[in-house]
Amino acid sequence: MIIVLNKNSAETGRLPIEGFLNANHINYRYVGKLHAFVLPKYQQTEVFEQFEGIETIIPINTPYQLASKSYKNQTSFQVNDISVGEGLFNVMAGPCSVENEDQIFATAEFLSNLGVKFLRGGAYKPRTSPYSFRGLETEGLKLLHKAAKAYNMNVVTELLDGSLLDEVATYADIIQVGSRNMHNFHLLDQLGKINKPILLKRGFQAKAVEWLLAAEYIMSGGNEQIILCERGIRSFDPSSRNVIDLGVVPIIKELSHLPIIVDPSHGTGAASRVTPASLAAAAIGADGVLIEVHPDPSRALSDSEQAISFDEFSNLLNKTKMLLNALGKQTDTESTVLNSGRL
Ligand code: PEP
Ligand code: MN
Repeated sequence: MIIVLNKNSAETGRLPIEGFLNANHINYRYVGKLHAFVLPKYQQTEVFEQFEGIETIIPINTPYQLASKSYKNQTSFQVNDISVGEGLFNVMAGPCSVENEDQIFATAEFLSNLGVKFLRGGAYKPRTSPYSFRGLETEGLKLLHKAAKAYNMNVVTELLDGSLLDEVATYADIIQVGSRNMHNFHLLDQLGKINKPILLKRGFQAKAVEWLLAAEYIMSGGNEQIILCERGIRSFDPSSRNVIDLGVVPIIKELSHLPIIVDPSHGTGAASRVTPASLAAAAIGADGVLIEVHPDPSRALSDSEQAISFDEFSNLLNKTKMLLNALGKQTDTESTVLNSGRL
């Protein structure tokens, strides 16, 4: 259950409840930013009726609490004036890795001309083999940031390790937690303490409930700005890199208030399947997509098989807009807030 205290009397309301919980050995966490007690295992709401200063008591019987739909109906927030979680379909795109200035500037220019507001790109790359291209690191972050800001776009980039948090946070508007790091609980704790949106990818072997518990780590630290991202799960079948679990989108919508987007690039692993999977993601109710696009896909230094070309991306965006239009929705590329003029 979650006990939310009245904002104005949170400090005075907190102490007697804390005393009661400690005396009765009830497991709890007080989240100062939300002035709320989270009691993950306790179900007896009536016990707390005796206490002053309580705004509401929410019974929740799932292991995740703050990430639950019972706590809140919908999470929404602004990323530099672009709204997330309010019904707009967010389009995030860019190369798997930042490779050089020409590549990232050409991509930013192309995408911003189409109205795309979020430029993705990896500077610190998690690679299966230590011999693969692992990113330009600090130089990559700087180039990505420079290109994004030159075209009034937001930066989405991955944080590989907690020791890099300050550096990545300096350049990122949204910090990506990769699939391999979804279970890195110490990293999630660190991200709970900052005031920056987090794109939380699903671990490739994670159940929906484990994914929501990873989000709970971040939320229980006080950071509620989270976007979930389905990126495919591992299966027995080698015919695709991953199995894109689009069915998880309505499941998450039933269980949680957090926005969820889909990454059809890693989800399918093949450029030819990115457009159909994106359209399917829009149709099934996702809040956006994260797409790998490259000026010359065959030469991409990472994930070249799944990178789509500029032409393919234009096509994908047109079809997505048409589909969403039929559903009474819009992409954020039609919004004029960012990209209105180059800096
Ligand atoms: C990526 O977005 O390039 C990436 C490495 O993603 P994932 O963590 O989903 O594999
Ligand atoms: Mn990639």
